[in-house]
Amino acid sequence: MTKRVALIGQPLRRRHSALMHNAAFAHYGVDAEYELRELAPTGLAAFFDEIRGDDWLGFQVTAPHKQAVMEYLDVVERDAAAIGAVNSGVRLADGSLTGFNTDASGFAAALTSAFGVDVNAATVVVAGAGGASRAVVWALLTHGAAQVVVGNRDPQRARELAGGLSDLGPVAGVDLTSAEFGDALATADVVVNATTVGMTSDAVPFDVSRLRDDAAVFDLVYVPAETPLVAAARVRGLAVANGIEMLVRQAEIAFERWTGIGGAADVMRSALNGRTHEAEPRG
Ligand code: NAP
Repeated sequence: MTKRVALIGQPLRRRHSALMHNAAFAHYGVDAEYELRELAPTGLAAFFDEIRGDDWLGFQVTAPHKQAVMEYLDVVERDAAAIGAVNSGVRLADGSLTGFNTDASGFAAALTSAFGVDVNAATVVVAGAGGASRAVVWALLTHGAAQVVVGNRDPQRARELAGGLSDLGPVAGVDLTSAEFGDALATADVVVNATTVGMTSDAVPFDVSRLRDDAAVFDLVYVPAETPLVAAARVRGLAVANGIEMLVRQAEIAFERWTGIGGAADVMRSALNGRTHEAEPRG
């Protein structure tokens, strides 16, 4: 019986996850298929009934369902509960469903491989206060970042995010356009873009001219591969990475939970070769 995994979201425009997982299933001889299932919130209950069947290995979740799926699961692992978002899950042999979060670990792994930086004791600025930002800030604080400043267009969301994670370490939420945010940029070791800016528009989320010469810039956006932020950081000669490696690393973690097979990142990365630079519809 061919086993199944589905990515749910609305809209679902990116095929990267299907490419990576299906390449890994084929490479390791696992009889399974990863499908894209565009789903409105009203479809969640039926979906989570369906995937309790024994042909299912698990699921992945993207916007806007990362919070809403939690109520349909038997177990939400502690880290995902603390982050406040589930982006992956596994069906156990008894048909029960466990949700977890691979964005945080994927980000931490990608950050280390891109820059070789030790987050421990680093000063980090994060633009954005949505679901991805929560996973990033959680990862930074649990890895011992010295200070995290979150800047968001809606500053209240940044303050709420910071307030919710402040038990883990020093974190503040500010307005993305404030002088406070600009000052934080000027002293940061690492600056992360966790907004959709660059994916949904040709803009940059912050001014790279403010950054230190030895700062590293990590853009979570991966379509297009060369965002305006990545391009501007490159022009300034800064260390820079886009979101592709994070996507690969989070996929590798989920794949291991479904199949028991670790180390699939190389196969997944190869599957994306040629797609990481292509133009896809924005949004
Ligand atoms: P989300 O929950 O919808 O949050 C969007 C964020 O972008 C919010 O902070 C929002 O600010 C901000 N934003 C939107 N338009 C803006 C603008 N014009 N100016 C300034 N800020 C703006 O999205 P998400 O799930 O966190 O995802 C954020 C990005 O991360 C997306 O591009 C996604 O593709 C990427 N991502 C990548 C990976 C990976 O593996 N590489 C994983 C997860 C997410 P407001 O709160 O003010 O609206």
